[in-house]
Amino acid sequence: MKEMEYRALPGTDLKVSVIGFGASPLGDEFGAIDPDEGERAVHLAIDSGINLFDVSPYYGRTLAENRLGKALAGRRAEVVLASKCGRYDVAEFDFSARRVMASAEESLERLRTDYLDILHAHDIEFGDREQIIHETIPTLKKLKEQGKVRFVGVTGFPLHVLADAAVRGHADIVMSYCRYNLLVRDLGTELAPVLREHGIGLLNASPLHMGILTECDPPAWHPAPEEVKEAGKAVAAICRRYGTSISTVALRFCLNYPPAASTVVGMSRSSQVETNLKALTRTIDPVLMAEIDRAVEPVLNRVWKSGRQENNA
Ligand code: NAD
Repeated sequence: MKEMEYRALPGTDLKVSVIGFGASPLGDEFGAIDPDEGERAVHLAIDSGINLFDVSPYYGRTLAENRLGKALAGRRAEVVLASKCGRYDVAEFDFSARRVMASAEESLERLRTDYLDILHAHDIEFGDREQIIHETIPTLKKLKEQGKVRFVGVTGFPLHVLADAAVRGHADIVMSYCRYNLLVRDLGTELAPVLREHGIGLLNASPLHMGILTECDPPAWHPAPEEVKEAGKAVAAICRRYGTSISTVALRFCLNYPPAASTVVGMSRSSQVETNLKALTRTIDPVLMAEIDRAVEPVLNRVWKSGRQENNA
């Protein structure tokens, strides 16, 4: 197996594996998992050189943090651990200083550690932008001063909201999701160049478009329009015809995108870790890529609304 590659994460002194471990599936977000198998997946990932682990109290309403904390027992020093604060349920958000402080302590306890490498404000488009900039991010920085957090970030969906909050709030990192993969490729329009200009790190999450770019059906909560889901099925059929796996092609496509230091893919089984590691050694046949491009073209960059109305203008 090819050795893992690492990239420097701007805004930090961290070197992160180009494939990151997204832990939302450990919180049963994509269906109930076998927790022992989830733990094996975490260990295999670490043994294979994956060092970036991303979680949130929101994933499985603390279940993912608890499971990841158990799996990381004795191995904390081997990983770059990122969690989040501010989002606690589908419609429960609190970006206040008081809640951020309490949330960080709760995450530390669940993750069985005394510091987080990264703490993000989670899905900031659901909060008040000025509160995020003038209260939430400064509170994250206070945690940084206290040594409980090493770097601070923001996550969410609308690109201009992330860019504005990260630049005006002086965040170290941004995690964007579903904005650079086979189906949506607009991360370079309003976000990536702004972050580069300001020396802010970029993490690209959801290379499989939250399950659409796999052989399985996406979860019922998936917000993409139906025609995007259909396009995913068409891409899967094309990949099958070429004797290759859609998830490997989709992940490889993201690894080829230099502005993102790491591509964070959600995993809960060792077999997924193994398949995803194969992307390190693959290239995408240009003929296959052209066929995928043709299938995707009618729905390319079809996104959805997320968060407050003023953030979806
Ligand atoms: P994803 O695109 O990574 O897809 C995950 C789905 O694909 C899961 O169902 C997983 O079981 C499945 N999968 C993974 N590898 C597979 C393989 N080889 N074959 C078949 N199926 C496979 O979507 P995601 O999990 O939502 O995103 C990755 C991570 O990024 C999350 O776990 C989370 O840590 C982070 N994220 C953050 C935000 C945010 O902050 N707002 C949003 C989305 C994702």
